[in-house]
Amino acid sequence: MLNAPITTLWGVGSVLVKKLKDLKIETCRDLIFYYPRRFDDFSAIEPIKDLRAGMTTTISGTVELITNHRSRSRRMIVTEALITDDSGSIKCIWFNQPFLLKNIPVGSRVNISGKTSDNFFDLAFVGPAYEKIFSNHEGVHTGRLVPVYPLTAGVTQKQFRVFVKAALDAFVAEIQEWLPEEVLDREHLHSLGDALRAIHFPTTSEEWSLARRRLAFDELLALQITQKVARKNLEEMPATSIVFREEESRRFLASLPFTLTESQKKAGWDILRDMAKATPMNRLLEGDVGSGKTVVSALAALNAALAGTQVVYLAPTEILAQQIFERFREWLHLFDVSCVLITGKMSIVGQEKLSKAGALQYIASGQARVIVGTHALLQERVIFSNIGLAIVDEQHRFGVEQRRTLREKNSVGCMPHLLSMTATPIPRSLALTIYGDLDLSLIDTLPTGRKKIITKVVPARYRQWTYDFIKQEIAKGRQVFILCPRIDETDDTGVKSVTAEFARLSKDIFPDERVGMLHGKLPSIKKSRVMQDMLEKKIDILVSTSVIEVGIDIPNATIMLIEGAERFGLAQLHQFRGRVGRGAYQSYCFLMPTTQEKEDIARLRALVKSNDGFALAEEDLRDRGQGDVVGSRQSGLPTLKIASLSDRDLIASSRKWAEVFVGDKKYREVVDRATKREVHLE
Ligand code: ADP
Ligand code: MG
Repeated sequence: MLNAPITTLWGVGSVLVKKLKDLKIETCRDLIFYYPRRFDDFSAIEPIKDLRAGMTTTISGTVELITNHRSRSRRMIVTEALITDDSGSIKCIWFNQPFLLKNIPVGSRVNISGKTSDNFFDLAFVGPAYEKIFSNHEGVHTGRLVPVYPLTAGVTQKQFRVFVKAALDAFVAEIQEWLPEEVLDREHLHSLGDALRAIHFPTTSEEWSLARRRLAFDELLALQITQKVARKNLEEMPATSIVFREEESRRFLASLPFTLTESQKKAGWDILRDMAKATPMNRLLEGDVGSGKTVVSALAALNAALAGTQVVYLAPTEILAQQIFERFREWLHLFDVSCVLITGKMSIVGQEKLSKAGALQYIASGQARVIVGTHALLQERVIFSNIGLAIVDEQHRFGVEQRRTLREKNSVGCMPHLLSMTATPIPRSLALTIYGDLDLSLIDTLPTGRKKIITKVVPARYRQWTYDFIKQEIAKGRQVFILCPRIDETDDTGVKSVTAEFARLSKDIFPDERVGMLHGKLPSIKKSRVMQDMLEKKIDILVSTSVIEVGIDIPNATIMLIEGAERFGLAQLHQFRGRVGRGAYQSYCFLMPTTQEKEDIARLRALVKSNDGFALAEEDLRDRGQGDVVGSRQSGLPTLKIASLSDRDLIASSRKWAEVFVGDKKYREVVDRATKREVHLE
């Protein structure tokens, strides 16, 4: 049976079961839906007489001779075999595999795949892949496109291929086609069964491409159906309608030291209109770093608080929570809206520190209006009296699950309006697919009056000049970020590591400046301490990994120096750059590549030319595929197993069908299978 545990396959013992479980493979179905990462092309079978040294190829012949002996040093068992075909013979050598004598005894028909080498004037295969061939039995490891899987230690490619093959042979027929005939016809898609076979064991690379196309279509379709259904379900739930308070809103905006940009106003308006409805808002506010999303969210928070509901603001880190809390407290002070901060370390109500229990009580009673914290708030034993609005910052992966949690903590039982905010520049063309269940507001202009950040690609020979420049800025009272790609020195590729760079800089280069260090492996208390020191100007130079990426606002920082810059995607570099240039001072971003590759340098130059996160993200997408659009997992992009966000045509056609299926009762079963994840999306 398809859903039978893998132990039903011959050769899968308890040790392997554990290893495969690490790969999330427990049933035969899981095996079938575990796709190879790439292929080795061993499809051409070469006559032995045509072999030359250094060829990667396959031969097919008979075992003429096979023997074991100990190596001269006696530490290894060497197996030597002579393989013969119609055209000639060749020697094969293996080390420490004495069992080969039994596996491929004299007279066996075998395929041998590998690289030929010169062995004391004789041509030989050393340690090649071998496969015993039976008549009318196609090969799995040799003589074909051979799949290579992403595996963990303890599972060999060879074992794995055999299991996949066995699972396919036995059970692929049980996998039901879930797409209606008309879709397969119209989109020219292969049947699911054929696609699954061909994704593992294609006969040609064209066949593989077609299989991938079919499976990618399934993945994108199921994703979009799921989102459409989630959206529909949400629209059927009740939410508190929050009436727009025009007078107070005006007063709030007038109290700010700046006026909103047109796109901030537009976004604010979208949000207020959504919240006025009695169905829950589900809106994503997307805006480049520094575009001023916080103030827009504060406008929404003000209206929700004045309507008598509570507002929860979830920040990605404690430092950011604190920063947001302080800003909201200051802004909303005018309206008597009480703000509460709850983090692991402290709870503050208004201006006073309070015990956690006291703060929780204050929240439960409904007196607290705006509650700022991290996601830990969702785990706390906190009960809200009446959440009207939830704001989720820089972490738009706020799924159905978290929403349900919020609702359960809400004693009135209404679904809160949800505002997610992100600086991840997802091009609009993709946002519809990725966040199909969200409405989108875009802040696409930066506030006026900002000085443009001066960006330069700096060759290593200007390193000393750069350090001198940094010293001058610090002398003026400014602060500096130095970003390294890695935490520890693990090899000598020349890629800077934070720990080594910190030691070097603080001792040799900047002995008179205050240098701090930040990376993901520090305990979180330590991390907060360092960020706090940076905020309070107790650190001049912060040497860090990419952990500073998320939304921290340090207007006094003016230099961002990025080591090994070519290792990052453009959109990610743009995010780093956004950590400076937030105040009134001229700011700089220096990109220091470790290579002199023309292509790398040219890519980095795009940052010099463009200050537009969206354009850079588009460029990344063209250059390097989706993986690098954001460059880190916290991006919230769905992890696609086989489809890619650059599959524009597939995205468009699957979106069209998702619309059709969800809108028509006739397709109920298709929708059910997609939402129950029976199509095997992970
Ligand atoms: P982000 O969108 O990255 O979260 P913030 O909300 O932190 O950006 O805003 C960055 C800075 O810009 C803040 O100091 C904020 O007060 C300021 N700001 C926001 N809107 C405007 C505006 N319209 N004009 C001038 N400054 C603004
Ligand atoms: Mg922000």
